[in-house]
Amino acid sequence: MQGMMMNRPLSIISILEYAAEANGDAGITTLETHGEVTKQTYRETYARVGQLAHGLRAMGIEPGDRVATLAWNNRRHFELYYAISGIGAICHTINPRLSAEQMIYIVNHAEDKVIFVDATFLPILAALRDKLPKELRIVVMADHDHMPDTKLEVFCYEGLLDGQKSIYDWPDLDENTASGLCYTSGTTGNPKGALYSHRSSVLHAYMVGTVLGPALPKSEDGSINILPVVPLFHVNAWGLPYAAPIVGASLVMPGPGLDGESLWKLMEAENVNSSWGVPTVWMGLLAEIEKQGRKPKALADVVVGGSAAPRSMIKTFEEMGVNVNHAWGMTEMSPIGTHGVMPPSVNKLPLEEKLDYKQLQGRRCFGVDLKIVDEEGNRQPHDGKAIGELFVRGNAVVSGYFKNDEATEKAIDAEGWFGTGDVASIDENGFLTIQDRAKDLIKSGGEWISSIDLENAAMSHPGIANCAAIGVAHPKWDERPILVAVAAGDSKPSLDELRDHMEVHFAKWQLPDDVIWVDELPLTATGKVSKLTLRQQLGDYKHPEVA
Ligand code: AMP
Repeated sequence: MQGMMMNRPLSIISILEYAAEANGDAGITTLETHGEVTKQTYRETYARVGQLAHGLRAMGIEPGDRVATLAWNNRRHFELYYAISGIGAICHTINPRLSAEQMIYIVNHAEDKVIFVDATFLPILAALRDKLPKELRIVVMADHDHMPDTKLEVFCYEGLLDGQKSIYDWPDLDENTASGLCYTSGTTGNPKGALYSHRSSVLHAYMVGTVLGPALPKSEDGSINILPVVPLFHVNAWGLPYAAPIVGASLVMPGPGLDGESLWKLMEAENVNSSWGVPTVWMGLLAEIEKQGRKPKALADVVVGGSAAPRSMIKTFEEMGVNVNHAWGMTEMSPIGTHGVMPPSVNKLPLEEKLDYKQLQGRRCFGVDLKIVDEEGNRQPHDGKAIGELFVRGNAVVSGYFKNDEATEKAIDAEGWFGTGDVASIDENGFLTIQDRAKDLIKSGGEWISSIDLENAAMSHPGIANCAAIGVAHPKWDERPILVAVAAGDSKPSLDELRDHMEVHFAKWQLPDDVIWVDELPLTATGKVSKLTLRQQLGDYKHPEVA
């Protein structure tokens, strides 16, 4: 027997329509590309999104067309998320840090019709123009007064809105209609596209709202200000543009100001309660907090993911009264898979014991299933000991890659689960520990060493500001771990001192054989330490014992 309930299609525009009415005072503050700070409510934003939708249709954008963005976190980028999906087209966010080759590939692969670009990134487009489709039109995300000088033929964003009606008769779309497209910045090979739908995006927003929403800190009047450092140009800024309007939180968009000093100032001025980003960003903010002698006044929560949050970083935040929520996910999961909201039994523990849990990758969100399997694909127990490749399943997980059957076949197993490429364990209470990306695990003498564990231990030494552990070829042991490190101050700890410091957590054979000091670590387009680049740079490295 079937239930007798209505079946309304889930739609992205309904989120903003709801927020405009029910949470209409909340909204978006933006540090604009030209430096000014602007504010608009969700009510005003919804009206502008209606105008933009008319503007897009006037440009000839049809349902199913891909419309690209190349932009910072700002109000116009947010408006594009809603207007493009609202008319049934697909919002294709492009990461401006991709290589020219990758960018050319994805614009052509996605067959983008229009690209919306921040003035900052116009030179990137100018350099690539010949290799991009001739029909591709360019819209600069600025008002008439801030249009940059350029030889390219461009439209002005505000020009598209001028004179348009703010009411738009949004089409009733099938909830499985594609809404967004984001390419993984695959470290090797061509990027692969995750094609989100209205249904997956709305369910993901519910999920983020229900799991993370109640844990968000509020100001005294009940308002919540969230600063997404995580970019709208990659993995939907962890779903915040969809989840925040539902829970009535305002967004503080940092635009191009992603360095510690700019973030500190904006957080301080705009009473930011919670901020979300990758560990490298927090290193910059922590340095500024040290300089200022205090944290931004309202900051009480940091959501960190994208790569493992070092224990030492979590501790520093917690000691200054900032709760750290360590989450894990990936582009193909919309992206959040697990969250670091702690159960009461952990919350009441003393800090050091609490950190034992906070440094893990948290517990799954409702709606995300996890399994770990051995090399033959056999499920492993969730006992905290068994380690295997992590597979996921859920309504916000990709079922394949956009126009890429070969990659789809490789990624989805016989039971229909998606292989993450991460190696993990899961304990009885559902806590996930990511040991490594499968390709970053270090294999020495037939035994595995987790590079994340080594980095955590090394970074708890006060002399190390940042580091990466990688495996280098060794004639006897196959691979041996070495550290590539950035010093925290002028005096660098010796290898022996580091090994002594790390020894409590490891067997002797697991400790690094060498430390190489560098001024900075190479980063990927998404702000993670690029171990691929490090391995390439160290291609002719000779092990001290062997050299
Ligand atoms: P991306 O698709 O660019 O978001 O990258 C996803 C990958 O980042 C995951 O498969 C993990 O390898 C890594 N990752 C994300 N969050 C974490 C975390 N909290 N700890 C360790 N690795 C993470």
